[in-house]
Amino acid sequence: MNVLVTGGAGYIGSHCALALMQSGYDVAVFDNLSTGHQETVDTLSGCNLPGRFLGFQKGDLLSMEDLDRAFKTFQIDAVMHFAAFSQVAESMKDPGKYYRNNVLGTLNLLDGMRAHGVKKIVFSSTAATYGEPEYTPIDENHPQNPINPYGSSKLMIERIMDDYDMAYGLRSVRLRYFNVAGADSGGRVGEWHEPETHLIPNILKSTFGDGKEFSMFGTDYPTRDGTCIRDYVNVEDLADAHVRALKYLENGGETDFFNLGTNSGSSVKEVFGSCERITGKAIPLRVCGRRPGDPAVLIADNKKAKETLGWQPERALDDSIRTAYGWEKANKQH
Ligand code: UDP
Repeated sequence: MNVLVTGGAGYIGSHCALALMQSGYDVAVFDNLSTGHQETVDTLSGCNLPGRFLGFQKGDLLSMEDLDRAFKTFQIDAVMHFAAFSQVAESMKDPGKYYRNNVLGTLNLLDGMRAHGVKKIVFSSTAATYGEPEYTPIDENHPQNPINPYGSSKLMIERIMDDYDMAYGLRSVRLRYFNVAGADSGGRVGEWHEPETHLIPNILKSTFGDGKEFSMFGTDYPTRDGTCIRDYVNVEDLADAHVRALKYLENGGETDFFNLGTNSGSSVKEVFGSCERITGKAIPLRVCGRRPGDPAVLIADNKKAKETLGWQPERALDDSIRTAYGWEKANKQH
């Protein structure tokens, strides 16, 4: 089974490519390297795993030619789609970039699948499609009212996927991630964003003694300690859910969507405390005002993924912090 992993040079895509090869799937990576890294592709291609690394195509979703070439060259049977811009703040300043790349890019990908007779796709969606929570934990029946162009772009894609199933029988699983954390436990790949906006890598980067304080955004939220609460799901657990989603489609599963989270939340202060404990360092801290657009609490109800995919998150937040710290230490130059 040959799987095209778009965005395979990025954070979540690379972990899923490893999990696929570990499970015996052959993987081809399609990435324009605008935010992904050639070094990550090199790592994937050098791994000795049950599934093969078929190759890398540097290509753009906005080019039908690039897509055609990838489907032909690698004889693709199924797609895992991660390639997208994913920064909420940037999406508010430059919405066109998000709609063009994320929505139009995915439309091209789906048309490429049609042209080449590929009928199965696992898609990287997001809890940002729900918008401001009306209740927590958030289940899949929660209304989807995104509050930024990033979330809107992902919701539009979900809708397009429903229509492509109805019209062309193209089946999709949309996985709505909560907060993804950690790195490969073998240290092969990890989180590498430029600039880094996420909580855990930003706290860990402040352990390196170059005087850079960690900025804590908002301590006046209506939560147990005043800081935002998020549901941190380990990236290897997340990758396992993707492999299960693909197997579900292979076994004839219908188009569906699932939350990926742990059913429990940690506050920013709690995560910060765990990082100090695990690293054994006093981390320089600056308390700042709220970051615009951050809801107070986001926690997943993951019952549906458990019941239908048989998925169970295995790794605790401490494991995610430990692997993320190992990655940060080994790759400080990033
Ligand atoms: N956060 C913070 N400092 C940072 C980055 C994030 O205080 O340098 C907070 C942010 O305000 C939010 C939480 O950490 O409450 C998680 O943010 P992140 O960007 O990791 O994920 P998001 O929930 O926005 O997807």
